[in-house]
Amino acid sequence: MKIPLITSIADLPPALKASVTPEEKACIKKLSGTNSLPLAVTPHFASLAGPHPGDPLRRQFMPSRNEFDPDAFALADPLGEARYRKTSRLVHQYRDRALLLAGGSCAGYCRFCFRRVRMSGGPGFINRIEIAEACAYLERHSEIREILISGGDPLTADNAALEQLMAALGKARPGMVLRICTRTPVTWPQRFSAKTIGLFAKHKPIRVMVHINHLRELEEEGGVSAGQILKSLVEAGIPVHVQTVLLKGINDSAKTLADLFRACLDLGLSPYYLFQLDLAPGSAHFRVPLKTGLKIYRDLGSLISGLALPSYAVDLPGGGGKIRLYDNVIVREEERPAGNVYLLADAGGKLWEYPVN
Ligand SMILES: *Cc1c(COP(=O)(O)O)cnc(C)c1O
Ligand code: SF4
Repeated sequence: MKIPLITSIADLPPALKASVTPEEKACIKKLSGTNSLPLAVTPHFASLAGPHPGDPLRRQFMPSRNEFDPDAFALADPLGEARYRKTSRLVHQYRDRALLLAGGSCAGYCRFCFRRVRMSGGPGFINRIEIAEACAYLERHSEIREILISGGDPLTADNAALEQLMAALGKARPGMVLRICTRTPVTWPQRFSAKTIGLFAKHKPIRVMVHINHLRELEEEGGVSAGQILKSLVEAGIPVHVQTVLLKGINDSAKTLADLFRACLDLGLSPYYLFQLDLAPGSAHFRVPLKTGLKIYRDLGSLISGLALPSYAVDLPGGGGKIRLYDNVIVREEERPAGNVYLLADAGGKLWEYPVN
């Protein structure tokens, strides 16, 4: 399926094109043709972005000089997924849920992407042999009740490939919940034809986990909007859960997040996770210090309904898994050669490090 992508300055909408600074031009040039996440944005997302360098949508796809800054805490596999890899595509870290890295690309690159290193030049969409391997594993592991279908972004595959995958999973394990993890409703809402929604509805139990970071990503442009697509999924009986990444300069205020989550609730979507940023290389300038994040989350809780409040969580760097973050999650602070770290306890009481800044 051909993803509509803008990959050069010349093809950006006029106002954005005029706004590209000489420094950004140099970064785009440095990244083009390399493996490290070149400029790529859909016309839809680009048209929602404003030309101001601080615009919260523009910042998500426009390369910046800061990506080349050294980051002593960066990890090539920030989630430590390699450790829990059970087949070529399946990661089994939590007892009753597994993650399928279905591969393929994304409809635009987010500058803060945690799959940054692995994704570049990564494998294509999962093939028949890899599907069979994953299904065989799932058949042997009846404790798995949910399968997360992630990517890249699985919606960059065409409907026939998705159908083949979903049908195989459904056959291997009838009743297992399919969780489709995607950002395409936001970046490429045109991808969701009535046929696509019908395909999802045919494979219940199914849940859509959509990545949204800012209220303006839901806006309408050229007759389509993420808001309207997500609402039609809900109306087709497909629950939609929202995952948001806490990003410095983009959504790092309680008010900005409250506006987003209220709007989601109005559309019938459930805010699910607010993620503290993973330690991917080149993304440190988007990291909100943990203490600041905890303060924002506390303020957020007093602004909005509990129905609109996601869990604040972090994937512990190096494979510790996800933990929820709340005010007394920090056990203590210690010095390291790369800078100070907090020690956070996982559910079993084991301590894991996360940088202070
Ligand atoms: C996030 C994640 C899951 C799902 O966890 P939930 O808390 O149920 O959302 C499953 N497997 C892996 C490897 C994950 O990273
Ligand atoms: S959509 Fe997700 S996987 Fe793709 S570039 Fe953005 S954060 Fe990374």
